[in-house]
Amino acid sequence: MTVEAVLFDWGGTLSVHSDVDLLDMWRAAARVLAPDDPEPVASELLAAEERWWRESIAVGDRSGTTEDLVRSVALETHLDVAGALRAYHDAWEPTVEHDPAAVPVLRALRERGLRTGLLSNTHWPRELHERWLAEAGLLDLLDARLYTSGMTHMKPHAQAFRALLDAVGVEAARAVFVGDRLRDDVSGAQAVGMRTVHLTGRPVETWDVVPDAELVTLDGLVELVDGWRAA
Ligand SMILES: [Mg+2]
Repeated sequence: MTVEAVLFDWGGTLSVHSDVDLLDMWRAAARVLAPDDPEPVASELLAAEERWWRESIAVGDRSGTTEDLVRSVALETHLDVAGALRAYHDAWEPTVEHDPAAVPVLRALRERGLRTGLLSNTHWPRELHERWLAEAGLLDLLDARLYTSGMTHMKPHAQAFRALLDAVGVEAARAVFVGDRLRDDVSGAQAVGMRTVHLTGRPVETWDVVPDAELVTLDGLVELVDGWRAA
């Protein structure tokens, strides 16, 4: 098999999943929007986010932004949406950690002349993701970086995967997708004809799909790809 590109999910794949209290993240925004009584606003924001993910998936994995979310809750209050977004994003900052294997793995793939890319299901803005990747030394190791907050659809929608393939300029049959979610990553990438690697390091929702390979973490990925290229 010819492999010309190895493409990645971000959360739980290049980054390490951490058990963040989502309500705590929204508390940071609520303290800006409603300093005198933040708790009900924090609950409302969390409920809005959960509703947003549910409804977005239900209508065919339509995408959106954190700003839409915060505005939907702040609509009638005319409060400081920009400040709330800043506070919310700042609250996430210390929770972000990348897999130490990400840099050496991406370097090794590029040394082999392979294209690399990223496709993340996210309502956070591109600038935030790019800053985190730059700080981790990953930004320049990824030829294409797509965030669904700036796209019409999320994974597993075929449009999201096709946009990534177009961005790296590689046919689906010559691309490998690596991710930790069976529905979003494995089923979506497989449906457009990509080879898939499922990272099994943490429990995720089950889905009726069989990946081409399983690894616990990114360790072993380069050897796996080498094996496919030699076959
Ligand atoms: Mg993920």
